[in-house]
Amino acid sequence: MITRRLLLASATALALVTPAFAQEKLKVIATFSILGDIVANVGGDRVEVTTLVGPDGDAHVYQPSPADAQAVAGAAVIVANGLGFEGWMDRLIEASGTKAAMVNASEGVTPIAFGEEDHAEGEAGHEGHDHGAEDPHAWQSVANVGIYVSNIAKDLSAADPEGAETYKANAAAYLAELDTLDTEIRSAVAALPEDRRTIVTSHDAFGYFAAAYGLTFVAPQGISTEAEASAQDVAALITQIKDQKIGAVFVENIADRRLLDQIASETGAKIGGTLYSDALSAADGPAGTYLDMMRHNLSQLTAALSN
Ligand code: ZN
Repeated sequence: MITRRLLLASATALALVTPAFAQEKLKVIATFSILGDIVANVGGDRVEVTTLVGPDGDAHVYQPSPADAQAVAGAAVIVANGLGFEGWMDRLIEASGTKAAMVNASEGVTPIAFGEEDHAEGEAGHEGHDHGAEDPHAWQSVANVGIYVSNIAKDLSAADPEGAETYKANAAAYLAELDTLDTEIRSAVAALPEDRRTIVTSHDAFGYFAAAYGLTFVAPQGISTEAEASAQDVAALITQIKDQKIGAVFVENIADRRLLDQIASETGAKIGGTLYSDALSAADGPAGTYLDMMRHNLSQLTAALSN
């Protein structure tokens, strides 16, 4: 015990007397929790990551705080998802007066178009919302996150050339983990019965997952949680669930579950669990990192859809 206390004391003393040698970390902003984790994996010890929209937060309807503007003002690098996800970002950048380098993590991703047919007809007061023409949830495909990682490594290296080798090595290690994850998802989905591959969620956050892994997702809300589901949309979905005998609907960590509860009770479908769509859980939750989030979602889906 005494030895340990002495060691701790001397380590603290050392830290106190050597601030000049402590490396100044690159201050990096990530716009939301999933991206924050990816940036931290690539940046490692060289970066200090601040995340704007935290665990279980909804970036679609986020309102930046004065503290966010301050963090953005002091950042060296700002990493955003792009694809119209952060509708509040331009104003925040402008208001903060930041000189930070801007990284568009999704640059080079093949976007999935958000079709007009996904807009419910006759929605009132809809014009002011910024939906964009493309589905922003590209991180739900592991291959796309590989593109994010390469972009982030390149742009962190540009901002901090001395760290280039570190970023490259960190990116390579993380890409290997992504490869393993991708293989896991593919084999788990392949094991599902062909007629058990349709999933109901709150909002259309899983288009890239569907495209990459061959499942079908339907949702009463569109690609943004800003839009209210119309009564027509909900009625059509209830009919579809009954017709196709869809056995499970999934709630999302960022979305209000009341509508899903209603749909479940009207169709007899069971709530299959919680999917993490646009945000991680708290660090001690089931989806504290991107890798854990994807594995958690996969286990929820396979548990409800197998048999
Ligand atoms: Zn979303």
